[in-house]
Parts: sequence; C-alpha cells; structure tokens
Amino acid sequence: MLKFIDNEATLAGVLGHEIAHAERRHATNRMTKQYGVQILLGLVLGDNPSEIVNVTANLFTGFALLANSRSDESEADEYSMKYLSSTTYYPGAITYFFDKMLVKKGGASGGSLERFFSTHPLDEDRISHINQLLAMMGNPKPTEANLLASSYKKMLKELPIK
Ligand SMILES: [Zn+2]
Repeated sequence: MLKFIDNEATLAGVLGHEIAHAERRHATNRMTKQYGVQILLGLVLGDNPSEIVNVTANLFTGFALLANSRSDESEADEYSMKYLSSTTYYPGAITYFFDKMLVKKGGASGGSLERFFSTHPLDEDRISHINQLLAMMGNPKPTEANLLASSYKKMLKELPIK
C-alpha cells in the first residue's frame, strides 16, 4: 500500500480515514447489524462461549472483509480531513491515493488492493465530496511544505520492504 502513496500528507489522510472508522464505531455498528445486540451482549457478559468462537472466527475471516457502507466511507473521509486540518498536512491529500487506486483498479492488482477496495468502496462521489469539503476549508493549496513528499520518499527507501 505504501507504494501507492507519494507523500506524508497522503499517508496521514489514509491513516486518518482508518482512525475515523474506529472513532465513529463503523465496525461496531456493522457487527451489531450482523450479529444482533443479543449476541453482542452475550459476548460481553460471557454467557455464550460457542458464539464467542463463531464471532471471533468471523472477525478474522469474513467480517474483516465486510464492506463499509458509502455513508461510512464519506464520514470517514470527512473526519480524516478534520483531523488533518488541525495539522500542517494538506487535508485533501487522500485524493492522490484515490487517483492512483482508480488507475490501478483497471489493471492487475495485488491482494492488498483488492482487499482495500472490498472494504472501502471508492467511487467518484467520494472524490467530489472531498473537493466540496476543501472548498469549505477555503481551498488550501498543496505545496511541498504541507505534502512532505521528499521526506516520505526518503523514509520509503529506508524501509526493509520491496
Ligand atoms: Zn473506509
């Protein structure tokens, strides 16, 4: 995934998106829908050990691949931009990641890309939503000072990955 990111601001945007899903409890809401409040309460109260095994197994297989809804995606994008707007990072940088993803989507893609798309549906609406939010923020301009591309590339070179 890091190879589809070109600067620190984009990495911060993608991480912010993931953090937003957690903060907004999107996965918890999906779990409640899938398993029902009763089973979740049972897990917490510990009166249904066989369900704990089932649910845990699902967490690491099917559940992890459950798609976020479009509204969850939009909300996570919005929160990610809010987080970044209080930092020096350019808040719209996640769109660079989307652009690269949309190009890759047409061609051969690796497992991690497939996985990302199956859990984070990406469509043109998300990009236009981000552009609307940027306009509301007074259209900040991307520069090297708020993207930090060179320090990101330096970091990538130093990572022990291929
Ligand atoms: Zn997402």
